Amino acid sequence: MAVDNNTKYIFITGGVVSSLGKGIASASIGLLLKSRGLRVTILKLDPYINVDPGTLSPYQHGEVFVTDDGAETDLDLGHYERFIHDNMTKKNNATTGQIYYSVIKKERRGDYLGKTVQVIPHITDEIKYRIRTAGHDNVIYDVIIVEVGGTIGDIESLPFLEAIRQLCLEAGHENALNIHLTLVPYIKAAGEFKTKPTQHSVMRLRAIGIQPDVLLCRCEDHMGTDIKNKIGLFCNVAKEAVVEATDVSIIYQVPLVFEEGGLGNLLAQRLKLKTRKPNLSKWKAFVKNVQNPEKKITIAICGKYVELKDSYKSIIESFVHAGAACNAHVELKWVDAEEIENHTVAQFFGDVSGILIPGGFGNRGIEGKISVAGYARENNIPFFGICLGMQCAIIEFARNVCGMKNANGAEFSPQTDYPVIDIMEEQKNLSNLGGTMRLGAYECKIKPDTKTFNIYGKQTIHERHRHRYEVNNRYLDDFEKKGLIATGVNPGTNLVEIVEIQGHPWFIGVQFHPELKSRALEPSPPFREFVKAALDYAANRIV
Ligand code: GLN
Repeated sequence: MAVDNNTKYIFITGGVVSSLGKGIASASIGLLLKSRGLRVTILKLDPYINVDPGTLSPYQHGEVFVTDDGAETDLDLGHYERFIHDNMTKKNNATTGQIYYSVIKKERRGDYLGKTVQVIPHITDEIKYRIRTAGHDNVIYDVIIVEVGGTIGDIESLPFLEAIRQLCLEAGHENALNIHLTLVPYIKAAGEFKTKPTQHSVMRLRAIGIQPDVLLCRCEDHMGTDIKNKIGLFCNVAKEAVVEATDVSIIYQVPLVFEEGGLGNLLAQRLKLKTRKPNLSKWKAFVKNVQNPEKKITIAICGKYVELKDSYKSIIESFVHAGAACNAHVELKWVDAEEIENHTVAQFFGDVSGILIPGGFGNRGIEGKISVAGYARENNIPFFGICLGMQCAIIEFARNVCGMKNANGAEFSPQTDYPVIDIMEEQKNLSNLGGTMRLGAYECKIKPDTKTFNIYGKQTIHERHRHRYEVNNRYLDDFEKKGLIATGVNPGTNLVEIVEIQGHPWFIGVQFHPELKSRALEPSPPFREFVKAALDYAANRIV
């Protein structure tokens, strides 16, 4: 644990409505500070009682983001990694469930020596401890940014706010700062920006004992100096600390908007941080590439949670990164796997240049995905299967190329004669669902002279996992004889991590989730190469 008294804290709360982009705002602030040479980490505090989002349906929570050290965390951690280009850890996300769980464990052990265990001080002490010890154990941070989930006025986030109030007092004025992200709506009929919701939100914060130092105001367009001054006056915030967060078309523009609004310098001065001049040139170049692509292609994503795009957040962003690197805009066509089951596959995929099947759980839509993998294989369409997507491709190959009738995954059909995807021995007798999958980064060795090797350009890689089932090595020889090769294997366990089909222009399946490691300035290699393959496919089709 690396706690240092010189560490500064920035707390970010949200007001008026949810979905204002607190995660992006926190990540952007992280980038502005990092670009000034500071060591920064970001902690997300989640008010729900689940220990982690691992047991939540994607419809409830969107994607579960997995860290290298195997924590199942909030999807905001994905934004943090993509913006500040650093690996998050299990200590970058704390939930109410985790906080109470540790306090209750201590109580059972007798650590509280007969005292009554209460929200103040025991729960708030635990929260403060999580804040002070956020991030990597061996790093002393210049700044720890803390994003508080939920909206001011929620009952469930009160202990977090109380802990923040205490920590600000303990750290002292120069070492802690509060940012409140709020909405300043524009009412068309009146032709005016309205400040009242912000005033009310700040009033509630002040009643809790937190005076915001900076207001980040989400607004459709520039609100003008008069409105800014008015907000400052009514909310007791210096007018230069009322910063506009105007709507932008690409989330990666947000740090640039903040920088232009003077936020980076404001934070550095107020916290007396020793900084160098910010260097955002690479970031600006990346944003330019995203804004002005020369080419355009369409890639289909065939999944079962397609109505809620947040379920595939990291995949969507990976295509933005890969597109920027290939000078292309990647248009995503969302196809519901269940719908395919009643149609011909060509009806959905005839016009696309690549097909991706993402991860997922359970039976629904499986047969649709299996036929899509077959369609891509037979028609030489670039195909990328991730986790469940790879499993579907292998089932299809077993059935239709290797003649294994009704081959299946044990998750979908436990009685199948050919369990080509099977549960791991150590998973068989688990009774708890939470936190028990194969989670986090594992080493993978890549075979030389394969497409996979060309994709990564090296022999050893580490990618992140989140699954229970694996390729059944019993059938590997049969697959390889027919051209589906295991090109990436875990050196310790021999588990298959990557497959490719020989003779196909680009057919790759991965058991891990490469989307979790794609960064704005460092796209995931398989995503980048998949986009390249799709561009080639599109170019050749037109000819
Ligand atoms: N359901 C599959 C498994 O548990 C795949 C999981 C995933 O796609 N993340 O192995």
